[in-house]
Amino acid sequence: MSRILLRGGRLIDPAREIDETRDVLIAEGEIEAVEPPGRLGVTDGATVIDAAGCWVVPGLIDPHVHLRDPGFPEKETIATGLRAAAAGGFTAVAAMANTSPVNDSPEVTRYMLAQAAAVHAARLVPVSAVTRGLGGREAVDFAAMVEAGARLFSDDGIPIDDQAVLSSALEQTARLGFVISLHEEDRALTANGAVNAGEVSKCLGVAGVPAVAETERIRRDLALAIGTGAPVHIAHVSTALSLDLIRAARKRGAQVTCEATPHHFALDDRAVLRWGPDAKMAPPLRSARDVEAIVAAIADGTIDMIATDHAPHDPQSKRMELLAGFFSPGRDCGRLPEDLAEALTQAANGVVGLETALGLVLELVHRGVIGPARMVEMMSLKGAQLLRLEGGTVEPGVRADITLIDPNMEWTVEPAKCISKSRNSPFTGRRLKGKAMLTIVAGDIVYNGRARA
Ligand SMILES: [Zn+2]
Repeated sequence: MSRILLRGGRLIDPAREIDETRDVLIAEGEIEAVEPPGRLGVTDGATVIDAAGCWVVPGLIDPHVHLRDPGFPEKETIATGLRAAAAGGFTAVAAMANTSPVNDSPEVTRYMLAQAAAVHAARLVPVSAVTRGLGGREAVDFAAMVEAGARLFSDDGIPIDDQAVLSSALEQTARLGFVISLHEEDRALTANGAVNAGEVSKCLGVAGVPAVAETERIRRDLALAIGTGAPVHIAHVSTALSLDLIRAARKRGAQVTCEATPHHFALDDRAVLRWGPDAKMAPPLRSARDVEAIVAAIADGTIDMIATDHAPHDPQSKRMELLAGFFSPGRDCGRLPEDLAEALTQAANGVVGLETALGLVLELVHRGVIGPARMVEMMSLKGAQLLRLEGGTVEPGVRADITLIDPNMEWTVEPAKCISKSRNSPFTGRRLKGKAMLTIVAGDIVYNGRARA
């Protein structure tokens, strides 16, 4: 197996509180040595990579993606999704269970892992459904799913309405040492909402999704977390009040972690006026005040980790045949014609995110909201802990999953040039500063941005 020497990079490893220039030697798929510059000699056959000016960080881990495989190859496949992940700097991604068939059986988990093994890209970490068919009633066989390789449980896309079902699932998964990731939504309150309930929904004349649809469900589930003593993970937090509830529950002893997505900290609901269905997701983009609260919670540590919620969709699912061209830059808010309002309401929820996440989090670093170490903690270490994975650190003896980042490389988001099969991004045309240059999984270079450039 190959040997790689990463020379002269800035190693940022918050798990070991290192933020200094280090040479890193990789051999046999593991990190062999981490030393101050110049101490490691070049050995025969080693590939030497000049990492000067770059950050060397533990491989990025995304605890929440949708790879659409099995079931929806027109949107994404495990192969394209994992390659998009590698190009975005991710060495591992947790693939949600809302495929077709649903990942509620060891057979589906094994299919996903077999597909992933054949792809030279990021690792796939299977997320098992909590309930069979995401039906919210009958629990999966948790132990069998862990045995097959699942490392997280979630019915994501659909909330678990029955609290008895959730409570029992929390106790069972906690006994096995795993966590449930919760999509928090009270569908009685979401009703037929298309976008955030507020100015934008009012002026477009479409039904809104109120913040309370999220906060009331979080309130209930935090109570269950305290009651059962089980750990919970709150997916894609989108409102200011959600964060206050999480802070309060922690004070009462709840074991709760949470994630925020780049779109929820980088955009507010006015982006819908520009991007229409490409800015539609669940939970929706919220008010400017909520965005401010999320950024503050990233800075103060309330938000543990970043998740892309990568949700590829084909143009048809987004109702683009009707809606494309209607939304444009500088568009004023105005009532949508009825057929377009209906199309926006019907359009599938979600945006792609694997190839833009790092650049968007780096915006926070460049703005001074967070430091690089906190970024690495949120994009690698915390995800590794949630998913019970080895990794999240660059330490001798540990599996060599490493990302090399050029924090200053400027580029423009062009979904047509992205590796994901889908193009549904509200960041098209955005200038970003910083990009993954090299993604290494188990000591193997699976993405080389330098070769591409
Ligand atoms: Zn979700």
